[in-house]
Amino acid sequence: MTDALLIPCPHCNGLNRLPAERLGDAPRCGRCKQAVLSGAPFELTQASYASQLKGDLPLLVDVWAAWCGPCRAFAPTFEQAAAQLLGRARLAKLDSEAHPQLAGQLGIRSIPSLLLFKDGREVARQSGAMPLPQLLAWLAQHGV
Ligand SMILES: [Zn+2]
Repeated sequence: MTDALLIPCPHCNGLNRLPAERLGDAPRCGRCKQAVLSGAPFELTQASYASQLKGDLPLLVDVWAAWCGPCRAFAPTFEQAAAQLLGRARLAKLDSEAHPQLAGQLGIRSIPSLLLFKDGREVARQSGAMPLPQLLAWLAQHGV
């Protein structure tokens, strides 16, 4: 029997059941037919948050805002991490200006902030940007 993972679609929030060995093959969503795992960060919203916390892959959230220089400087690093972690973790960006209620709910005090969720709950949090090797090392410490 193959191991199947439950993974929410970043586009329609539908929960997909995918065989573990297929995660690298650009799997499509059963509901909306878009890419479930693209190797690029997707946007987290107030509406999608609860659905996106579900599933079997860790979720790493970058909380940012357009006016925040360090956030903008960190964006390419976050994109590189998303490509490297394809199939191992899902990376999402939360615009704290567009979704202040969610940012407040998560207790965000400064940006950029990185939040790591596993099995629907927060397991680690880091304030401030990190270079890619440090980011990957921090995630490895938490089993990603
Ligand atoms: Zn979908």
